[in-house]
Amino acid sequence: MTLAHPSHGIPDIRSAVEDQRRFAEGFFDELAAISTDPAGGITRDTYGAGENRGHEVMRRAADADGFAVTVDAAGNTYARWPQIAGAPDVIMGSHLDSVPRGGNFDGAAGPLAALVAMRALRAIGAVPRVTLCAMGIRAEESVWFQTSYIGSRAALGTLPRDTYDTARRIDTGRTLADHMAECGCDVDALRQGARALDPAAIAAYVEVHIEQAPSLLRGGKPLGICTAVPGNFRYPDLRIVGVHGHVGTPRRFRNDAAMAGARLAMEMDRVWSDSEAAGKPMGVTFGRFHTDAGFHGLTTVPGLFHLSVDVRAYDPDTLAGAEAAFLAIIARIEAEHGVRVDLGARKSAPVGLADADIRGALHAAAKAVDVDAVDLGSPASHDAAAFAAAGVPMAMLFVRNANGSHNPDEAMEIDDFMEGCAVLTRWLYDTYCR
Ligand SMILES: [Zn+2]
Repeated sequence: MTLAHPSHGIPDIRSAVEDQRRFAEGFFDELAAISTDPAGGITRDTYGAGENRGHEVMRRAADADGFAVTVDAAGNTYARWPQIAGAPDVIMGSHLDSVPRGGNFDGAAGPLAALVAMRALRAIGAVPRVTLCAMGIRAEESVWFQTSYIGSRAALGTLPRDTYDTARRIDTGRTLADHMAECGCDVDALRQGARALDPAAIAAYVEVHIEQAPSLLRGGKPLGICTAVPGNFRYPDLRIVGVHGHVGTPRRFRNDAAMAGARLAMEMDRVWSDSEAAGKPMGVTFGRFHTDAGFHGLTTVPGLFHLSVDVRAYDPDTLAGAEAAFLAIIARIEAEHGVRVDLGARKSAPVGLADADIRGALHAAAKAVDVDAVDLGSPASHDAAAFAAAGVPMAMLFVRNANGSHNPDEAMEIDDFMEGCAVLTRWLYDTYCR
């Protein structure tokens, strides 16, 4: 490949991107101004006023640039340039909503990076052979409707159609359909199967996002190139049923649900550490973990225990192995502790593997613009996984960020964001403009 020797005839992409710094800062500032929460942090509520204002900021910026702006039936915003009939789209996007009292960069960095890259390419006179598309995605933060990837899956036609009437926003209690209609969406069209995006007509989906863990910060690297978005299995309402008893009951007569819960957690922690030791990263989280408040007390052997579990991994085999281990541990605990385990509902999401060719090309682009980038498994779930599940070649770039995310203290340096934009732009140039 010639990419390792950037030379004759290639415009100075780094400085073309650097010229967009004021635009990028202004975009972030405007977003912050319209979504600062009086209670602290940033709130762009999903299918609510905050998210609407975020999309308005994107629309205004893209309009001012002369990019072709459209909005689909689910309220996702698209800005395209150039418009080439019959050519596939290269979509670069992320979400414009936030958790309550979150930060300004989680999500918003994605559509902004796309606009920066498109502006930089146009400024150097590049002529893409595909249609470049910045996508501002709706409803990625599942805290609001307890449902993943609503906006992207609605656009791709992969969101189960009953979701519109069954999902309710956690703070208002109103249905997704209700909230969407209020935001000008065409819910009837979506219920009838309308989709804005044909996966077969998308050449690639690339998402720029802040890193939500401190791997890049600790490693001293500005940029990560995603290997995979984790898949998961989840049991949101698992119950362990034993027998409430007197605190004086000898061990052999007990049916202690709390001790069974504790053992489940300890054994899953062992599964996790063994997997990591074998070089297979995963994650185990017991988000809820408690005795029953209606019964529990200092002198009662707990007969009821409630928990939720989320197990995630980066390859399908590791995930399947973890679930097999989880179910085997439960069978053992039932037998040895004299309890019964009600698993309740099971939810899952497949692993989203980043496309190997795009990953390789992004590494080459990073080298060409002199950005120190490393492979990185995504700590969190992202819309990119919904595109991968629909069969679209997917990749992600993670920008170094301090203090995690989903809180007001997330802290991405604009310098690092511009590095990410430089890699994205160089990749677009090398892949679609030369
Ligand atoms: Zn996000």
